Amino acid sequence: MENTSEANILQDFETAWRACPAVQQPKYPDSAEVTKATAELKQRPPLVFAGEVNELRELLGKATRGEAFVLTGGDCAETFAESTADHLKLKVQTILQMAVVLAYGAGLPVVKMGRMAGQYAKPRSSNTETRDGVTLEAYRGDAVNGHEFTKESRTPDPHRLVESYQYSAASLNLIRAFTQGGYADMRRVHEWNKGFMTNPAYSRFDALARSIDAAMQFMKATGVPSDALRTVDFYSSHEALLLEYESALTRVDSISGDLYDTSAHFIWIGERTRQTDGAHVEMLSRIHNPIGVKLGPTTTPDEVKTLVERLNPEGVAGRLTLIARMGADNVREVLPSLLRAGKETGVPLVWMCDPMHGNTVKTASGYKTRHFGTILDEVRGFFEVHEGESMIPGGIHMELTGDDVTEVVGGTETVDESALAKRYETLVDPRLNHQQSLELAFLVAEMLAG
Ligand code: PEP
Ligand code: MN
Repeated sequence: MENTSEANILQDFETAWRACPAVQQPKYPDSAEVTKATAELKQRPPLVFAGEVNELRELLGKATRGEAFVLTGGDCAETFAESTADHLKLKVQTILQMAVVLAYGAGLPVVKMGRMAGQYAKPRSSNTETRDGVTLEAYRGDAVNGHEFTKESRTPDPHRLVESYQYSAASLNLIRAFTQGGYADMRRVHEWNKGFMTNPAYSRFDALARSIDAAMQFMKATGVPSDALRTVDFYSSHEALLLEYESALTRVDSISGDLYDTSAHFIWIGERTRQTDGAHVEMLSRIHNPIGVKLGPTTTPDEVKTLVERLNPEGVAGRLTLIARMGADNVREVLPSLLRAGKETGVPLVWMCDPMHGNTVKTASGYKTRHFGTILDEVRGFFEVHEGESMIPGGIHMELTGDDVTEVVGGTETVDESALAKRYETLVDPRLNHQQSLELAFLVAEMLAG
């Protein structure tokens, strides 16, 4: 049973965010059903725990000081159907493989976060979708409605919020088992990378791969305790889009009395919901998780300052990550003044690069895609701008999958536009496949190693 003061804290929290305008929320046909679903969620155990969340904040704090580099990776939108052991495993594997390469390149520990175990909701640029003269509600992710183009499936269903919780819990359980149970032992991850390198297409990374191998041998020889290599810290993250869901999973920590959103370790506010007087900013200003905000190319230096004031007034290192998604064409022009605005606040910030969302294009045949070279160019621009401002690049945020999909054009094992049709499986944004993800990690590692 909740005590009265906890109940009051939660009540104030709800009242505060509900008083602000909220964009990108589903229009449920029956509000009584929403209340039923959220009442159920409020009874469920937390998915993550304050101790873990605080640990992640500390690690992100290191990234503000150049003592760690952050890697976030995962689907644009996870689906319930693809939340299988195989898909989850391959995604975790891909992220861990990238992390080893990046850690070597940066000469720093890599903080690993999955856009996983909760990334089931999407903001949309249009509320509706029209096909062959029929207009229905847009697909907003499995947490909201079904992708199938029928009226029934596209109608937002609040029971899907409860389902999201179940899928999150099961996914997180598997991730914890992989990363804590020895499956993701660093020596094994290194063997997976050796497997990748047997493909002659990647021979240009031979020297880097050999250096990593030598470092691993050295660690073995000097007797790094094998426990330290056996387990790995891996954190969950998603866009905090659906306010009803995030609110229902927010709890008062019994030790500190602070609010934590227990749906994931790290949550972020998207480019479309970052209004400084909006409900998303209000909600996340009140919880103690480390949080992120996506910043698109129209962001102004004043907005950066206001966001920092609203979201990290106490200047806690690791609390706030700003995720720049400028587009390769804009990053060199727009980012410098935003970095300076951030610096002028005096608040330690993690700056990450999302080189995916500013670089989406449509092919003549109608596929939404991104070009590997453009993605890489945005990362390069991001590093250049940091160097120019004598600031520290904190990490990268990628949309990827562990499968051999064909959604992003380019890379050495080239996917060309005509190959996109082969395995174009995403329901929303195009993702790097397993090979492209690793190739990108090697290329970024080379940049980091300078
Ligand atoms: C996303 O991360 O999938 C997304 C929608 O990003 P943004 O908010 O940056 O557009
Ligand atoms: Mn996306």
